[in-house]
Amino acid sequence: VGKQLYLGMDFGTSGARYALIDKEGKILAEAKREYPLYMSEETIDWVKSWKMTLFALMEDIPVGLRPAIASISIDGTSGTTIIVDSTTGEPLCRPFLYNESCPEALPIVKAIAPANHTVCSGSSTLCKLVSWWRSSIDSSKTSATLLHQADWLLWLLHGKLGVSDYNNALKVGYDPEVESYPPWLLSQPYSCVLPVVLPPGTTIGTMKESIRSQYGFPKDCVICTGTTDSIAAFLAARANQPGKAVTSLGSTLAIKLLSTSRVEDSRFGVYSHRLDDKWLVGGASNTGGAVLRQIFTDEQLKKLSEKINSAEASPLDYYPLQDIGERFPVADPEMKPRLHPRPASDVEYLHGILESIARIEARNSHNYIWFCFSPFPWLAKGYSLLKELGATPVEEVFTAGGGSKNEKWIQIRERVLGLPVRKALQTEAAYGAALLAMKGATAER
Ligand code: ADP
Repeated sequence: VGKQLYLGMDFGTSGARYALIDKEGKILAEAKREYPLYMSEETIDWVKSWKMTLFALMEDIPVGLRPAIASISIDGTSGTTIIVDSTTGEPLCRPFLYNESCPEALPIVKAIAPANHTVCSGSSTLCKLVSWWRSSIDSSKTSATLLHQADWLLWLLHGKLGVSDYNNALKVGYDPEVESYPPWLLSQPYSCVLPVVLPPGTTIGTMKESIRSQYGFPKDCVICTGTTDSIAAFLAARANQPGKAVTSLGSTLAIKLLSTSRVEDSRFGVYSHRLDDKWLVGGASNTGGAVLRQIFTDEQLKKLSEKINSAEASPLDYYPLQDIGERFPVADPEMKPRLHPRPASDVEYLHGILESIARIEARNSHNYIWFCFSPFPWLAKGYSLLKELGATPVEEVFTAGGGSKNEKWIQIRERVLGLPVRKALQTEAAYGAALLAMKGATAER
């Protein structure tokens, strides 16, 4: 019996990665793949793209390491929802993506859920479920199961349909504090499609024999419940004290703060995930790297960033969004991107954008009372909002995601946040998923 290895896979917005680690947390292999983007009826067939990427990544794992893989876990984008046939696992419709909004379902959800509950946002999984329920025929309703992206990909590996984890299930209304769905949700006709929910990193079962033998994984390789992408990135940073936070600067910006108290407020897109005996408070904005990529190539980003004077505050005030609509620090489906005026200098322009994203992450000087009655609620931002809502104050910020390699941005953020900002030693969500796999395998034995 050799060394045991743990496999984590991360399904982000633009591509997927894997990380294979040992008990000490050392990475033995890792790889990344962009989604191949299969088309179906003139739209992207996401489900097929994810599935093909899952198996392509498994092919990428060095053959010699595969027999040592004790466990696997997967994270996916939070809120990405797939409704499948409960016997075949085949999707009954195209998936609802993480940032998709179902405004027509929102009044229905608001009428049954407590005020300001996490589900009271057009992009919540529950709104997606209600939207699907209203538009589908009775025969599919009786044989449907709701899965999140990570649940569905894990299902491809273990074959037991209808299992989720309590991080992914939060946005459908699951209560991780009491470890059940609330009565107001269970009394709805569509509660029959809700999955069973387990803590992240719990063994679901062993890998399907057909896949196991095809890829050369060991007989006792177990598949464990996953989590969401931003929680996986948080886990990777191993920031395990209250007051430590992780900002994920990927295509979108997500902030997560470890807190001793649970904080929820759908008006600002703020919610808490359970992490053992603590709470991971945070929110995800639609601003982030995707906007940068619309304007600059990664190479330009690197070159232009080097020329930024990070000690100086940029006077440019933008709200960089790829499309109309924001989720956090304020849930506003009508919010418009603001990226003008564009100065002649690209260095200044990038400085203004990076600084504006840092302001969204941080705060401005307005206090919460002012904020509540303000006609400009978007002026109160990220971390300060979490504190004002009752979370443990942030002391130190780690950074993950594609934007974390930008040293100048780190310096800008230190100035704007007024806090130490460090690049996390491990920044990949796939690494966090591998830690969950380790947790599952270790609990098992
Ligand atoms: P995803 O959320 O898609 O997984 P990644 O974590 O891979 O995203 O990050 C990709 C993002 O990182 C891109 O949107 C890109 O704009 C951004 N990025 C890449 N290089 C830099 C850089 N030097 N400075 C700031 N942002 C960058």
